Amino acid sequence: MSGPRRRRGLDTDRWSFQPLAWEQNGLPTWRYGHAPAGLLTRRQMRAADLAPGGAAPVAQVVWRHRRHEVRALLWDRAELVAKRVPTPAQLVAVGLALAARRWCPACARDVGYCLQTSLGVCVDCAFPELAAATVEVRDAAA
Ligand SMILES: [Zn+2]
Repeated sequence: MSGPRRRRGLDTDRWSFQPLAWEQNGLPTWRYGHAPAGLLTRRQMRAADLAPGGAAPVAQVVWRHRRHEVRALLWDRAELVAKRVPTPAQLVAVGLALAARRWCPACARDVGYCLQTSLGVCVDCAFPELAAATVEVRDAAA
């Protein structure tokens, strides 16, 4: 939702008086391209290998795209911390966890996709008649 727009500028603690800013959703807000330097969007933050580290956004930019208001939250670069890098052991653990989610206990194989938790087994084991029909169609086409 767009808040009230006061085009007469905004007194901010961080950047003193900003003639092009207004307050919206509790944040100093600028139009696209008018925000002060030294602020990063989340994507710019990630591209620079930085993370919020608990820091809250300090401002935002808003613009219109196809009649919708779009906004990007902005963080102060000075408040950001280095992005955490997983250790090799953590990457191995994640790989094993994902492999466990791909493992069908009924046919005892890695099915190549994560099992649906509501089924608990792979699609072929959950719907054997469907799997048989698929094989028939494949054989007929060959
Ligand atoms: Zn299976």
